[in-house]
Amino acid sequence: MAKVELKGIGKVYDGNVRAVDNANIVVEDQEFVVFVGPSGCGKSTTLRMVAGLEDITEGELYIDGELMNDVPPKDRNIAMVFQNYALYPHMSVYDNMAFGLKIRKTDKAEIERRVNEAARILDIEKLLDRKPKALSGGQRQRVAVGRAIVRNPKVFLFDEPLSNLDAKLRVQMRAEISDLHHRLKATMIYVTHDQIEAMTMSDKIVVMKDGKIQQIGSPLYLYNHPINKFVAGFIGSPPMNFLTVKIVEKGGKLIADEGSFEMTPTEEQAKTLKSYIGKEVSFGIRPEDLVFTKTPTPNNNMQMKISVIEPLGAETHLHLNTKTQSVIAITAPDNKFQIGDTANFTPQMEKAKFFDRETDLTICEVVKSE
Ligand code: ADP
Repeated sequence: MAKVELKGIGKVYDGNVRAVDNANIVVEDQEFVVFVGPSGCGKSTTLRMVAGLEDITEGELYIDGELMNDVPPKDRNIAMVFQNYALYPHMSVYDNMAFGLKIRKTDKAEIERRVNEAARILDIEKLLDRKPKALSGGQRQRVAVGRAIVRNPKVFLFDEPLSNLDAKLRVQMRAEISDLHHRLKATMIYVTHDQIEAMTMSDKIVVMKDGKIQQIGSPLYLYNHPINKFVAGFIGSPPMNFLTVKIVEKGGKLIADEGSFEMTPTEEQAKTLKSYIGKEVSFGIRPEDLVFTKTPTPNNNMQMKISVIEPLGAETHLHLNTKTQSVIAITAPDNKFQIGDTANFTPQMEKAKFFDRETDLTICEVVKSE
């Protein structure tokens, strides 16, 4: 298998659209790396440059240490699985899977061996004679993956492969692709706008926005140590809450004043927040880090009004309003709440984040990029 390295990669489309800017990414051998970000952030373009489907405007692409910039796609030893499956409608499943090998003039017996092996791995042996139109969405996606497997590529590239599937099937295919990654021990790069796919499938996530990499790291590292407000808000579901607060000094202590209530930063947070006294910052707290309490916690209580109650079975999501702002909290399902009730929550301050309002960068910790 293979290591993929992007060094200062950039893409400017004709007409001067800058799609990707100075991307530096190392995908280790056998690693599963997900490029994630909102639509239009440049993730597909980055993947397509790795595949050779787009010219690289700037920078260098290496696969196993070999410069690939000018190597045609067919000689890069990669296989790509697309969102729309791209199956040939007039060919059987077998022929769809065999096609890439046939045009490479692979020996017939070898083609048969590889197609059957891939069909076994993907549990589609019984479908080999069918045409794509006689398959469900999930089965078509498996055939598209099978077509990649038979090529025995150095690197698998996936471009939003699950977007056309319904929610339940997406969850199932997510697990299947993860399982496949473990069994094939392959290097895989996977593009999605869905942060849950990124969190659940990847060894490493590359978060992109506006053509620029924001942060690279393991799912939990990004969850716990987001470098800026964008990453903090993008990773995690429901997303992190943000409240504008003013940093003030009261009785020798730093306080984050929301207007409706005050919170006390930890000693460590207070050290870095000192330079923000008198200024507004964004306070970030995840819904799971707001703990419902029957009685207010002194110096650290958020009293809010319940506007929406969403019982999900295992947990209940509450939409809560301060005088001017709103947040979501996750609570245990057995609490009895009514819309319009006032409830007390203790923010877990050691988990809270503060962000500079001008730069959007995380204030209170030194964040590594990986
Ligand atoms: P993503 O995959 O994150 O949705 P893309 O890589 O497809 O984003 O697109 C990144 C940016 O490049 C967008 O602004 C998009 O409009 C632009 N773009 C993509 N393909 C082309 C193209 N062939 N010509 C011009 N601009 C393009």
